[in-house]
Amino acid sequence: MIDNDVTAGAILRIDLEALAANYRCVADCVAPVQVAGVVKADAYGLGAIPVTSALLEAGCRSFFVAHLGEARALRAHFDRDLSVAILNGLHPGGEEECAQIGAIPVINALDQLDRWTRFARACGKRLPCMLQFDTGMSRLGLSPSEVDDLVANPMRLDGVNVRLLISHLACADEPDQPFNRYQADRFEALCDRFPDIPRSLDNSAGTLLPRSHYDVVRAGIALYGGGAQSGSKGIRPVVTLDARIIQLRTVQAGEAVGYGLTHRFGQPSRLATLSIGYADGWPRCLGGRGSAFIGGVRVPIVGRISMDSLTIDVTGVASDQLRPGGLVELIGPLQSLETVASDAGTISYEILTQLGRRYARTYTSATASPQDPTFLTKVAQA
Ligand SMILES: *Cc1c(COP(=O)(O)O)cnc(C)c1O
Repeated sequence: MIDNDVTAGAILRIDLEALAANYRCVADCVAPVQVAGVVKADAYGLGAIPVTSALLEAGCRSFFVAHLGEARALRAHFDRDLSVAILNGLHPGGEEECAQIGAIPVINALDQLDRWTRFARACGKRLPCMLQFDTGMSRLGLSPSEVDDLVANPMRLDGVNVRLLISHLACADEPDQPFNRYQADRFEALCDRFPDIPRSLDNSAGTLLPRSHYDVVRAGIALYGGGAQSGSKGIRPVVTLDARIIQLRTVQAGEAVGYGLTHRFGQPSRLATLSIGYADGWPRCLGGRGSAFIGGVRVPIVGRISMDSLTIDVTGVASDQLRPGGLVELIGPLQSLETVASDAGTISYEILTQLGRRYARTYTSATASPQDPTFLTKVAQA
């Protein structure tokens, strides 16, 4: 059992069964629209390979990453029939490898398009791509005037097959924001100039907006149990994080804890030092602000968070719950990912993508049984 793993300071559990259920939940919600899995940034920190395997099992065939290197890692591992698109497109010089591994670049600018078509013509193949339009976020994609230019010069598309037209919402997590409608209108007007090509506008939060979801949605955070959908209609948490108690101590009134002695005790108190710190991606700003749960009791993080440890005030916890090596919940049934993010003044995306490399990680899935003694090794090798 992973609980017996004493080589790491904290245990990160990733529930691939919940991930697959979340995929099916989003798919049911938008059907017959297709759901592509966004697995950039190592699947939001949860492991691109095990996450992609689980999504393939759940029926997902289309994936998005951000970089060519991420596409290469997926392609090296999966020989099955799946499409891998690169959201950031290609940097100059990336064309050859992209074509070689059969990845699909998202074309965000006319110079990217020109390099891809030139490469396609040079090797005498028709190469796939996606076209991104900027509908108001001003981050990536062709502007309306660049689209005019493209429509006026259609030979600029010679050599490529445009598989999907995409754009990205700036305010999808604010459903009442009128800009969502504005972007959808702009998207439709731009797409209409390229008839009969499938369309994709929505990320996870976009799937909740009361309008068409076009042909494909690109779901990331909802699959990982975070964001606007968390706790709603069937989206299940995927991640739990428990840290071990290193030691327990008693402090007297007037004593202080941690770097800078920022927290001073007004009364005798009991402290537990946990084996997790900011080097594990636990946000340093949670010092004096965040919480943990032990024996069902909420306890405050006191003092500054160190690189490898942090301190909680456990004065209110029954002493039979307190022992060196015991586990304390940081993300789980009592403290959601969203709560951690809001305590830290950030979003669940950032908490997930910062999750550290030092945890004892375990993946639970419906298909491989934890009773199978080779299960953990299989997952570790995945
Ligand atoms: C990251 C990303 C997504 C996924 O967004 P979620 O909010 O995690 O669902 C979709 N589309 C684009 C262009 C992205 O960059």
